[in-house]
Order: sequence, then C-alpha cells, then structure tokens
Amino acid sequence: MKIRFWGVRGSFAMSGREFLRYGGNTTSVELVTDAGKRLLIDLGTGATELAKELMTGEFCKGQGALPILLSHTHLDHIQGLPFFSPFFIKGNQIRILGAAPLSGISLEATLQNQLSPHYSPLNGLENLAAGVKIETIIPGTTVTLPGFEVLTGAVPHGSMWTTAYRITADGKTVTFLSDVEYPAIDEPIPAALVLAHEADLLIHDAMYADDDYERSKGWGHSPARAGVVVAERAGAKKLALFHHNPDATDDMIDAVVERTAARSAVPVIAAAEGNYLDI
Ligand SMILES: [Zn+2]
Repeated sequence: MKIRFWGVRGSFAMSGREFLRYGGNTTSVELVTDAGKRLLIDLGTGATELAKELMTGEFCKGQGALPILLSHTHLDHIQGLPFFSPFFIKGNQIRILGAAPLSGISLEATLQNQLSPHYSPLNGLENLAAGVKIETIIPGTTVTLPGFEVLTGAVPHGSMWTTAYRITADGKTVTFLSDVEYPAIDEPIPAALVLAHEADLLIHDAMYADDDYERSKGWGHSPARAGVVVAERAGAKKLALFHHNPDATDDMIDAVVERTAARSAVPVIAAAEGNYLDI
C-alpha cells in the first residue's frame, strides 16, 4: 500500500518560503493498494492537487471511481470539495463517507450548505456532474471499500467528535487519528489504542509543539507527544506527525520531530506534502 500526503496543514492553508518543505495545503491523504485501488481521506485544499493528477487518467474520461472518507466537516477538511475537478465530469462515481456532525444536521445537509449560493457558485451537490453519493458512517462500525477494510471510531475534538480510521489493505494497516485531543497527554482514550493497535503507520494530530500546548489546551488538538504515547502503547511501528500548525515553519517542524523522536521508542517522521510512503 502506498500513502501520499497531499495536504498536511491544519486549520488553514499557508504559503511562503518557510513552508515549502512540509507544504501549506490542508488535510488530504491518498491511499493506493498494490492493485491500484484508491481511497482518499478528507477534502482539504490538498485534494485539489490530487485532482490534477486524477484528471490525467480515467477521471478525465468520466470513468473514475473514488471513495472519500471524511474525518469531520470543519473547513480545513472540506475546503477542497468545491474545487475537486473529478466532480465536474459526468460519469465519475464519487462516494463521500463520514459521520453525521454533532449538531444533528445530516452530513449531506452540511455539505449542501457548503455549496449554497452564500459560499459557492455551485449551488448544491446536485449540480456536480459526477455521480456523488453521500453515505453516513456510524463510528465504531467497519466499512468495506474496494480494496480496503476500514474500522471507524469516534475521538474527541474539543466540543465535538471526529471520526478516526484504521485502514487495512495488502496486509498492512494505516491509522488516521487527526483532529483529536485526549483528556490528558498520557491518557489516550481506549478507542484510539484499538484503532492504532500494531498499525504499520500511525498518522496523528500534532498541531502543537509540546511547549506550546499548555496555552492551547481544550482547543481540540494534540501536542506531538500525544501521538508518541498512542504509538508506543498501541505497538504502532511508525508515527507520522500531522495537521501541522499554520504558524509552524519548516525549521520549527524539523525541531519538533527531533525533540519528539528523542523521547519515542517508535520512529517519528513529520508528514510532508507530496511525499509517498510505501508500507
Ligand atoms: Zn483540522
């Protein structure tokens, strides 16, 4: 299985020469099986870069199929939706799967709001030329997608919950645990440990450097150290720090990786836009 990070930034997209190595686009992660089956996690601004690549193949001819898992509908995770060009080609079949937002509004209604005339000229999901199917996930259940088995789980994110994913394909497992904050750094919730159990790669929220966390407690995100605790306790084989703070320059992220790795029994990297990982 291959993983490509198309967007690794949290909260909002960033640009500038100090952000070139890790990238400025918001959350979007692509998984591809050895047989070429594809899965996307989140539709942040990074998804628009993947769209360009997809449009060089079958998606340009209206013959593409893509399942997309949403962790939640905060803007940094869906801002690429109105600009994801495979939606504009008739014949493409795109499934968007995610939990209903806490507010009680359905996932479909939330995404419809994003495309309302107040926010977008698209004026509704029904105006996308591709076949678009919105499917509601019940966190805690397993979803089977072509080439992938996905265990889902709800994790706390400030005043709401996000959906985390344990994805298995080709005998390998990737766990996606972003936009999460535990009751304490050393107290990950049991669901996180279940999802990350012996994962080949754990992609974990690392919005804050450990030193900066105190003043941001309760905002729904993790310091880098929290991912280490989950990885070590769950027996994960590698940790990718993810959802980088928009204020974190490349050099600052390098320093976080160095400090985090020095206190980790599990190898630590920082997710970087454009990077392929082969697991
Ligand atoms: Zn986010």
